[in-house]
Amino acid sequence: MLCPSICKKGAGKMKYKIAVIPGDGIGPEIVSEAIKVLEKAGEKFGFQLEYTKLLMGGASIDVHGVPLTDDTIAAAKASDAVLMGSIGGDAKTSPWYKLEPSKRPEAGLLKIRKSLNLFANLRPAYLYEELKEACPLRDDIIGGGFDMMIMRELTGGLYFGERRTTLENGIRKAVDTLTYDENEIRRIAKRGFDIARKRRKKVTSVDKANVLDSSRLWRAVVEEVAKEYPDVELNHMLVDNCAMQLVRDPGQFDVILTENMFGDILSDEASMVTGSIGMLSSASLNETKFGLYEPSHGSAPDIAGTDKANPIATILSAAMMLRFSLDLDEAADAVEKAVKQVLREGYRTADIMSAGCVQVGCRQMGDLIAERI
Ligand code: NAD
Repeated sequence: MLCPSICKKGAGKMKYKIAVIPGDGIGPEIVSEAIKVLEKAGEKFGFQLEYTKLLMGGASIDVHGVPLTDDTIAAAKASDAVLMGSIGGDAKTSPWYKLEPSKRPEAGLLKIRKSLNLFANLRPAYLYEELKEACPLRDDIIGGGFDMMIMRELTGGLYFGERRTTLENGIRKAVDTLTYDENEIRRIAKRGFDIARKRRKKVTSVDKANVLDSSRLWRAVVEEVAKEYPDVELNHMLVDNCAMQLVRDPGQFDVILTENMFGDILSDEASMVTGSIGMLSSASLNETKFGLYEPSHGSAPDIAGTDKANPIATILSAAMMLRFSLDLDEAADAVEKAVKQVLREGYRTADIMSAGCVQVGCRQMGDLIAERI
């Protein structure tokens, strides 16, 4: 897992091991299209991917009774990167949600992040010129567009702290705890500054330092890390203000660096500001090159099996995998360029359809993008 299992074989092609988790709902459909595009990129740029299919979420519950097995974790660890669709079903109708919370599909997601030490979650929110109409903000707010990266801490804080529900004198009481130590903060901050260095060199660290001790520590450690990056501008913003600024002036942000729960909420808000959830990719990284790549959206059980899903978020996640885990930047650029070209030519899936464009299904969208690589 520590370094890509690169081996030169036959015609000298670079080979990498990719664990593939199709997941539930539209997961298998969108992952197939991403693989189609990766295969085309491999042909063009001379690399070969070897896929191992793994079960997680509802698909794993159906076979193993649990959302994630130790064997699956071991197989993921033995790969160079993991490409995932999305997991979960309809909470009202799916039998998976009759299980206790620790056995439900989403528990697999938390467990794989922790087991693979994926502490840094990257979610770009980018406004495509061609999809400006889908953006719910006014033209004068959008201005020249926006291009931000939300860097969310993923394995600490409130979601991983101790929690309990008790009954005290007939009154139900629930407690969650939010803990961070300085090492957890330092490693994510460094990642944030490194990414900012490759972009527009600006970090906005988001916290609630006027109330929370964990945020005050967050702010102090981020300031220490900033000293190692004098070329990167740092500003701090309270999370409530950031939620407002995202819809008031999204163009001001480059890298938003924040803790787990704030990042969960802000990254969804940023996604919605782009107006097209089916377009947004994500990467979750550990301290090495290894990462798990998945779309930001869920498993969309309402459209599963109808060929209506937009595969672009997953295809762009695959491009992030090429860039961050496999160092195949040229191939990653080509995939991103192909996506832009298809949009420029007016092809749209139903979720991003607008007047005058040509509506296509999930499979055709995958074909169109692959053809343009
Ligand atoms: P969702 O993102 O699956 O769907 C929200 C809406 O967006 C739906 O109308 C859906 O049809 C649409 N949509 C989502 N992705 C789309 C795509 N690629 N193309 C076209 N339309 C798309 O969110 P939800 O309905 O709240 O959740 C459904 C399931 O997904 C739940 O079980 C939830 O827990 C799970 N989920 C999983 C992940 C993950 O795997 N990382 C993330 C979020 C939600």
